[in-house]
Amino acid sequence: MTSNFNFHIYKAYCNSLNIQLEEKLPEIKRVFREKVKRLRPDINPESAKEFGKIKEAYDYLVEHNAKALTTLSNSRKYSQTKTRLEPDFDFLKSFHEHTDNLPTPPIELKVGIEFELCIFGGEKTLNVDILNPCGCLVYHSCPKCRQKGLVKENKRVSFKIPVGTSDQQVLTLKELGHYDLKKKKRGDIHLIVDMLPDLRNHFTKINTDLHLKLEIDYTQAILGKLITIPTLEGFLRYNLRQGTQNNSKEVFKELGAYEFNDKYKRGDLVVSFIIKYDSVISEEEKELLEKIYELRKDKLEDW
Ligand SMILES: [Zn+2]
Repeated sequence: MTSNFNFHIYKAYCNSLNIQLEEKLPEIKRVFREKVKRLRPDINPESAKEFGKIKEAYDYLVEHNAKALTTLSNSRKYSQTKTRLEPDFDFLKSFHEHTDNLPTPPIELKVGIEFELCIFGGEKTLNVDILNPCGCLVYHSCPKCRQKGLVKENKRVSFKIPVGTSDQQVLTLKELGHYDLKKKKRGDIHLIVDMLPDLRNHFTKINTDLHLKLEIDYTQAILGKLITIPTLEGFLRYNLRQGTQNNSKEVFKELGAYEFNDKYKRGDLVVSFIIKYDSVISEEEKELLEKIYELRKDKLEDW
């Protein structure tokens, strides 16, 4: 698997393996071997998770080592030519500060949200693993946070779901994510909405319109009868047109879903009528249908 080079990420992985930024491949490999020897994931299954993290960091460093060293040496060359002109200007330092100014990576979570909650909006809570300040004074010797200064805690987070939220939409919870020691504030949480299906009515949401396939009996379709149509807010009584065709559609204005975060803009409810008939019928029904058939026989083409 290959990944994009990002100096900020490269630096973070160096920190997590306790490797100097300017280290070359042989030293990175040596440090990795040392750590693996200590963990022994082959005989200690408990350490498998930690091994996974170390391996991820190691793979990234190996893949991007050349690019990182070039970036670093370019910035130093630039820094040397610059210092002659502006003695106070330390390019490398400013380069690092610049990468530190990148946004704190957000926590990304996929979260299942009920259909009605997405449509009408509301509130929900969920548990999230969040990195919090450890509280130790000198984290270089702290066993609790393993010299990171941060400890993982499972926190209950409640959040608002705006009216008209769609599937796969990203809801941003500002500054509720991991604590950033350098910035002394929290990053964001990005919730990716997984809109759960509407199990009761089987509505399908397309943009702000709701679509519904509604089964009706052939007698209702032919004769045109009063039927009941489910909507988001309850039921609607509707007079079917006489001779309603299979798959024909009826649009009910402004009974669909709302625009995102706008209670005053609403889509439509689009109902497709699906005509069904039973595979088994009673003797009485059969008798009556035979009569209808006799009436219609002459109209039906006989090949
Ligand atoms: Zn600590």
